[in-house]
Amino acid sequence: MTRATKIVATLGPASSDPDVLERLLRAGVDVVRLNFSHGSADDHIARARLVRAAAEHVGKPVALMADLQGPKIRVGRFVEGRVMLEPGARFVLDAARTEAGDVGGVGLDYKELPRDVRPGDTLLLNDGLIKLTVEEVRGEQVVTRVVLGGELGNNKGINKAGGGLTAPALTAKDMDDIRTAMAFQAEYVAVSFPKSATDMEMARQLANVAGEASRHKPSMIAKIERSEAIPQLEAILKASDGIMVARGDLAVEVGNAAVPALQKKMIRMAREMDKVVITATQMMESMILAPVPTRAEVSDVANAVLDGTDAVMLSAETAAGRYPVETVEHMHLIALEAERAEDVALDADFVNRHFGRIDMAIAMGALFTAHHLGCKAIIALTESGSTALWMSRHNIKVPIYGLTSQPVTQRRMTLYRNVCPILMPKVADRDDALRQAEALLVARGVLRPGDTYAITCGEPMGYPGGTNMLKVGQVG
Ligand code: PGA
Ligand code: MN
Repeated sequence: MTRATKIVATLGPASSDPDVLERLLRAGVDVVRLNFSHGSADDHIARARLVRAAAEHVGKPVALMADLQGPKIRVGRFVEGRVMLEPGARFVLDAARTEAGDVGGVGLDYKELPRDVRPGDTLLLNDGLIKLTVEEVRGEQVVTRVVLGGELGNNKGINKAGGGLTAPALTAKDMDDIRTAMAFQAEYVAVSFPKSATDMEMARQLANVAGEASRHKPSMIAKIERSEAIPQLEAILKASDGIMVARGDLAVEVGNAAVPALQKKMIRMAREMDKVVITATQMMESMILAPVPTRAEVSDVANAVLDGTDAVMLSAETAAGRYPVETVEHMHLIALEAERAEDVALDADFVNRHFGRIDMAIAMGALFTAHHLGCKAIIALTESGSTALWMSRHNIKVPIYGLTSQPVTQRRMTLYRNVCPILMPKVADRDDALRQAEALLVARGVLRPGDTYAITCGEPMGYPGGTNMLKVGQVG
């Protein structure tokens, strides 16, 4: 049994050893996320090389996702590294303060804060663990009252409940980091805190320019983690190749309780618009320290799978946890089991839908045919991966094999739900290609004599967007 849902794992100190990394890939990691909030350009380039080498060694396609840091909306540093904030105390966030902070106040990495807030606003620090109410803005000083106290350390993040911080999504560092990510041809670039489609368009343009020398165009993922992004979701999706349900920051901005329904809505919208979607943050959080997940985490992963997410993501669990490999093993089993319980309602999916393009109609025709005939496999011969992507937006028990001659397309498809990407030599003759595709899946043990499969291709061969043919084959 193969798993349809994909696993994204974040690389970090706990997983940068080649041996651990290879074990992670063998345990089921499909996409490796490089977190650009930590480390230098050289670190990322070295890590990317490590991932490419490990994938080669393990013999499976793995995509790299460069996750940009985005604006640093953070407090400054403290004399003692941290302070204890008591409820009811006065605490001043001061953009002009240069000396280290104390229990009365702290400087700001984010200098615009005094212009972004008004009396009565709620500020949430350190992932929402600390809550402050703004009482007054005096020049560069934001005077607040502590509502929920606790320990506040150096450079902890600031969110404003309901959104409204004006920091631009792309910083100068992000622009440099995009160039770094293009040096190793990251298949995916994730943009932090986009507020609008324009943010995504700008990031894409920068990435395309940086990738021009190697003719590489990455897929762009919008991390949905700001209040402002929610009403803009459709436009952001249109401007992106996919989204991340970035539940960490999102929960702080919109309130914890709103996140589960938003997750379902985002996953549904992404799939309807032929985009990919990753569900992220705290999925297996307790496994940072413990060898088994909690019941709630098991349900969370299973529910994301049932919602239809393409991928579930691990952050600190694999970057800094004690049990990175075990976490992936658990996630793998949970996803497999959840997929068995999933409904297939393919015919209903097609009701009131219009597929007005030849390649799309052929892709849907292959799904319909394979579903009704009970085929063993759907094979998409694809240059860009689009056919496989369209097919993968619908639940079906038949696995989809994306066969491509383009290594980048192969790696990109690792994120698509229910798609198994396979590299195949470039073949000019259609009948040759069909024969080779069948032989490849027979050699892999996917197809056996007597098995039927649905296969799509374009004639003439080798042009992206050229899919115009569907054939039902039977292994002789
Ligand atoms: P981060 O994004 O881990 O880069 O903050 C994910 C999230 O906010 O959930
Ligand atoms: Mn975030």
